[in-house]
Amino acid sequence: MKCPKCDSNIKKVEVSVEGAENKVVSYQCPNCDYFEFEPISSKKVVEELRETPLKIKQTIVKLSKDRLGIYLNSHIIRSLNLKKGEDIYVSVPDKKHIILEVE
Ligand SMILES: [Zn+2]
Repeated sequence: MKCPKCDSNIKKVEVSVEGAENKVVSYQCPNCDYFEFEPISSKKVVEELRETPLKIKQTIVKLSKDRLGIYLNSHIIRSLNLKKGEDIYVSVPDKKHIILEVE
């Protein structure tokens, strides 16, 4: 395969994406800055990531005297479409889990 910009031979490079087993195939030109993702492989990775349940390590922070909290990062906020002031239900099914349920 040739680079559409400078006609050099293009290198096929597999890019790993965090949290996905599939790799994105990219084409990179060693001569100029031409770079392209192969659309079918990137679609696969995006679909895989969408199906993967989020598991994020969070640190418990102190809010006030005897109250603790966790921050919800932007991935969680976006996935669940959370907004400030919204009610959320917390249940504790056992000693190792906290379930947060959005209405
Ligand atoms: Zn090139």
